[in-house]
Amino acid sequence: MATLSDRLDFVIGRKAAEPLAEHLGLVTVGDLLRYFPRKYSDAMTVRGEGEELDLEEGEHVTFVDYIAQAESKFANRQPRREFLVVTLRDRRPKVTATFFNPKYLKKTLVPGVQVMLSGEVGYYRGTMQLTHPAFMVLNADRGRNVGTKSLTSIASATAATGDDLLAEFEKGYFPIYPATAKLQTWEIYACVRQMLAVLDPVAEPLPKWFVREHDLMGEDEALRAVHVSANERERARAIERLTYDEAIGLQWGLVVRRNSELSGSGPVAKPRNDGLMAAMTAQLPFELTAGQHEVLDVISREMAAARPMNRMLQGEVGSGKTVVSLLAMLQMIDAGYQCALLAPTEVLAAQHAQSIRAMLGPLATAGQLGAADDATRVALLTGSMSAQQKRDVRREVSSGEAGIVIGTHALLQDAVEFDRLGKVVVDEQHRFGVEQRDRLRAKAPEGLTPHLLVMTATPIPRTVALTVYGDLETSTLRELPRGRRPITTNTIFVSQKPAWLNRAWERIAEEVRAGRQAYVVASRIDEDDKPAKGKKDNADAGPPPITVVELLARLQRGPLAGLRLGLMHGRLPSDEKDAVMAAFRAGDIDVLVCTTVIEVGVDVPNATVMVVMDADRFGISQLHQLRGRIGRGEHPSLCLLATNLPEKSKAGQRLTAVAGTLDGFALADLDLRERSEGDVLGFSQSGRAITLRFLSLARHLDIILAARELCETVYESDTQDPGLASLSAPFTDTDRVQFLDMS
Ligand code: ADP
Ligand code: MG
Repeated sequence: MATLSDRLDFVIGRKAAEPLAEHLGLVTVGDLLRYFPRKYSDAMTVRGEGEELDLEEGEHVTFVDYIAQAESKFANRQPRREFLVVTLRDRRPKVTATFFNPKYLKKTLVPGVQVMLSGEVGYYRGTMQLTHPAFMVLNADRGRNVGTKSLTSIASATAATGDDLLAEFEKGYFPIYPATAKLQTWEIYACVRQMLAVLDPVAEPLPKWFVREHDLMGEDEALRAVHVSANERERARAIERLTYDEAIGLQWGLVVRRNSELSGSGPVAKPRNDGLMAAMTAQLPFELTAGQHEVLDVISREMAAARPMNRMLQGEVGSGKTVVSLLAMLQMIDAGYQCALLAPTEVLAAQHAQSIRAMLGPLATAGQLGAADDATRVALLTGSMSAQQKRDVRREVSSGEAGIVIGTHALLQDAVEFDRLGKVVVDEQHRFGVEQRDRLRAKAPEGLTPHLLVMTATPIPRTVALTVYGDLETSTLRELPRGRRPITTNTIFVSQKPAWLNRAWERIAEEVRAGRQAYVVASRIDEDDKPAKGKKDNADAGPPPITVVELLARLQRGPLAGLRLGLMHGRLPSDEKDAVMAAFRAGDIDVLVCTTVIEVGVDVPNATVMVVMDADRFGISQLHQLRGRIGRGEHPSLCLLATNLPEKSKAGQRLTAVAGTLDGFALADLDLRERSEGDVLGFSQSGRAITLRFLSLARHLDIILAARELCETVYESDTQDPGLASLSAPFTDTDRVQFLDMS
């Protein structure tokens, strides 16, 4: 008998085990047991006589029939290779199979012989034809099966387990494994059968009460039934069980991570009513909204405690996150700590520095004339600064003079040392991995784990918050403080209504005449910039998307001649980027022709129109983010999504959906339903893609919630529960990456 950790070669023999190890990396019984079928075929078995078969080219099919005719032919082309055409007896319409170089086969595959043929469906002049299928002779008089190894090995595997081979193929739900040319699904299945026959019962990793409460199939039964099940229902139950396993494995890893972070000691920062936080509150030009107060209270309380805060703050662009985070940072500074604010791009880092300095005013000019008594300083560190500038900033940071240190990835470098780092704020989290934020957190004084606040403007569906970001608590700002400016969104299906695009340029010109500004967004920089991979449904459709460089030239020559156009994309030198952004902000540029560098957090309230070219190239969430650049001032705004694809296409419908609502959460859910789960979890630190096989973030909220509750309950009594730990092993080195970035 065999157990999960046994080596496959001892269990199924070296000859069978070697290819599994070589081609699929499966070494132990447990590896093979968890090598799940990719899908289940429902057209595998077709007995001789017959019902009409509707099979598409490339589908896998198995026939059991007699040979009516076997003809040897020669190809017309040179070299005149010989081939054998076999016609089956009972198939209507006719089915043939061809075999090349049929030296030996000619003697075996003769009329009257009963065969099993298995291969991919092809059509030749309307006749279904299998080219070089796997075959096996069934009425061979000698005891041994004659035929292709892949089939005969299944035959011996099923014989060994006392099953009937034909019955095996009759099942409507034959498993299909992810296979390679070298190792076919058949052969894998044969190994699985052999292995299951000798496998000891697999231990139940879940508490009995949980299995009972959710009426789940047992682990042992499920792991077998997912490969070989008696009927459809049983297979569905097995998959349901394995879905729970996956959710629980994921949640266990998160519970462990949450708790290991929380067990560190956080910097205790009690709010003071005579410090910077109070002074800032007093000088705010507005009242905080109820939502902002609520969130700030929670954060403030958590920062005053000795447990490090681990919190994500979501809220759409303009919902007032930055103000809240600033006040929270001041509470830390009042307690003698420094704060780091990590931004994903130089543009954003610079913008944060500018707006935070402006908000603080004299509170941020320590050491200068006219500064407030307990003033602090705001430092900005980005990669493109000169060596001398960087040195100066680093000195300000390591001496503790700078209370707020804002920067890009440059902040993560070893050379950057803090005096007393007490809090890390990460803006637009999805661009940073866990590892990166931990690197920044590690710059705190020995023994201290800084509080962490992650801010994101991307609405995150609940299931994703609970899994991908499951180690963070979540707060949400739902209202925009200054009310929601109306943004009208329209789609332009350029191939159907080309005139509408001209109308779009006119609208821009009108807005500019009225003193407003506009964005025109394209998906590529220049010809060197390969088109982003479109969604599946439009990968090859139409001309390649327009580049910003060409778009700028075209608009300048034509519809927007005379307006002040600016160019902005990620490959500009950063001083140029800064200059362009500053000019746009100051109103010296009317229309910014740009890529998605403007996606995140850019704030120009005077911009009221946006035209997105080749909008089908962008994901739902990304479009919503882009649209958030307008509607930020007092004027009503207009967003136009242009595409060359037809309205009826998948992409067209997606754009229509974006145009139909401004509710980011609704769009995030829609977006999620469109993605494959594999996208969402990202990659492990070793670069391996972490994919969910059974759990769907779009469909399984209830399972995820049950799993989370179970893990929390179990963790309280046993932080090392071996059952749950074994389920979480595949997820433990996950690094969540760029969740919505990949849309
Ligand atoms: P976010 O970071 O979520 O995009 P910000 O904090 O930058 O939002 O706020 C967006 C704009 O709204 C800023 O100009 C800010 O000064 C302003 N603002 C924030 N909170 C309020 C409020 N309670 N009342 C009025 N205006 C506010
Ligand atoms: Mg912001």
